Amino acid sequence: MSRIDLHLHTTHSDGSLRPSDVLALAKQASVTALAITDHDITTGINEAIAAGRELGIEVIPGVEVSSFDGRSEFHILGYYVQCEDPVFMSRLATLRDSRHRRNPLIIERLRGAGLDVTYDEVRALAGTESVGRPHIARLMMQKKYVSSAKEAFDRYLGEGKPAYVARELPTPVEAIQWIREAKGVAVLAHPTWVKDTGDALRSCVTALKNAGLGGVEVHYSTHSKSQTAQYLELARRLNLLVTGGSDFHGITKPDIGVGCGRGDLKVNPSLLEPLKAAANG
Ligand SMILES: [Zn+2]
Ligand SMILES: [Zn+2]
Repeated sequence: MSRIDLHLHTTHSDGSLRPSDVLALAKQASVTALAITDHDITTGINEAIAAGRELGIEVIPGVEVSSFDGRSEFHILGYYVQCEDPVFMSRLATLRDSRHRRNPLIIERLRGAGLDVTYDEVRALAGTESVGRPHIARLMMQKKYVSSAKEAFDRYLGEGKPAYVARELPTPVEAIQWIREAKGVAVLAHPTWVKDTGDALRSCVTALKNAGLGGVEVHYSTHSKSQTAQYLELARRLNLLVTGGSDFHGITKPDIGVGCGRGDLKVNPSLLEPLKAAANG
């Protein structure tokens, strides 16, 4: 059965596979259309489009913009963004710099907590990839301080943990505006990250809709059936688009497959037309 996947990472951010390798996996998984949504960067899209042409897979230009409202981190997906828009590109570059400034501080804190890790080791491990927390987690796994990336985040790297360093991020409203100004459709990724639930979540998403949010990522690898139902209801009630994706990262999230998440994800190709229409409208 054909399916789509609107949330995928590559080596251009913190994924472990090149765009062409992600496309090859998508082909095996009967994915007919996909979006490359690297964190704060769009440089992987051209390679993906070329590979997609070879394999007969439609590639939608995408990006995942990090933002913070003072309480929750919001990831805003941008679909059909104009990658040659100079203002958008410079905004993303500033965001990436804020991540790079943070990495050495994280290493300092880990060393302060007694872990023998250096920034040079992280850089060597990342190779040509852009260094991020998943690389730090991988180094911690190699050195046997933790047994999984999840444990590295749960014990050290996640928000509120000893080696957590906050980034200077735009607000969700700003991230949405950036995407809109680059002619993209803005979608709230993995809404479980928002610390509000119920009515508070609805008023939060309503405010984002008023700022230009176009959709909600209802279908997601780690959503339970009841979460999917809840977000579907929220999207319908607020007249927002429904999207879905795996958030594939390769070996950093080894249990998540392209197109199928943990095995039970299936994003219906019929969700693509409304997204396309919103981008053109
Ligand atoms: Zn995300
Ligand atoms: Zn993601």
